[in-house]
Amino acid sequence: MLKIENLCASYHTIDGQVHVVKDVHFDIFDNEVFGIAGESGCGKTTLLRVLYDIIAYPLQIDSGRVVLSGEKKGQPFHAETGNIRKAWWKHVSYVPQAAQSVLNPIMKLKEQFLDSIPLSDRGEESKEQTLARVQAYLEELSLSPDVLEAYPFQLSGGMRQRAIIALATFMAPSLILADEPTTALDVVVQRGILMMLTRLQKQYRNTLVIVSHDMGVHYQITDRIGIMYSGSFVELGPTAELFAEPLHPYSRMLISALPVVGDKSQRVGIPGRPPSLKDPPPGCRFAPRCPQAFERCTQEVPRFIQVRPGRFAACHLLKEEVGAHA
Ligand code: SF4
Repeated sequence: MLKIENLCASYHTIDGQVHVVKDVHFDIFDNEVFGIAGESGCGKTTLLRVLYDIIAYPLQIDSGRVVLSGEKKGQPFHAETGNIRKAWWKHVSYVPQAAQSVLNPIMKLKEQFLDSIPLSDRGEESKEQTLARVQAYLEELSLSPDVLEAYPFQLSGGMRQRAIIALATFMAPSLILADEPTTALDVVVQRGILMMLTRLQKQYRNTLVIVSHDMGVHYQITDRIGIMYSGSFVELGPTAELFAEPLHPYSRMLISALPVVGDKSQRVGIPGRPPSLKDPPPGCRFAPRCPQAFERCTQEVPRFIQVRPGRFAACHLLKEEVGAHA
């Protein structure tokens, strides 16, 4: 579905170039839920924006590319960085972080739906016929069609987020990129949103990429997960395996910080803070916080290697499995 090849991206700042995505290389498969995890500021959102081809100053791609390909209703499609926009809505759509800020506050939802559906998809259809299709889709998602007559400020945060998801998925795209879709929502609403996204993914058999700093969200809904630290993936693999046996010290610390039902012991957070992307430390960027760091870690950047089939990590303590298959 999506091939990300040696991707590096940076921002122009008054202090110079800040490299936010560094040597990211991985594939996203058809019909999977892929999670991108990591602390705030590790480059997750920038990576997602690059995957969606929202590249505008001060963001730039320094090297690498993203290739989107697949088949919809028997028709193959293909797009690469620079022209993925042509596939927006129909083949790939984006659920942004803050629904509040992407909906136009002075337009009713129905106008925003009509604006987003390309004329090519509406064909000879009248406005009323298109709106009838939208209403039927909202009902399918258990959303009241009344929301179409509402302005965004008249809806709760959860309803706005559901409306955005409905808008992004109306044309049944093959790939949905969701950036922290449950942030700032209470636990009950959060659960409803996650159920809505996974239901849609199963029903339409599309691919969902979800960015979240919340490891609990990844544990609940993703098939595979990539853990980012300071602009790069430090571990990637099937979610169940990674949670059962994390290979990278950072993943281990993230997982052991999660609360466990019935366990009343104090959870220990990760000491220190992620390094500044403007001036990262040499060698392994996790070294200043890693309890297992040794001399080599501060001198040499660990390679992102396949440690066992389907399991990848970047740490000098791990050995590459010879002859393993991706
Ligand atoms: Fe820790 Fe060294 Fe592995 Fe980095 S390379 S995670 S510092 S042990």
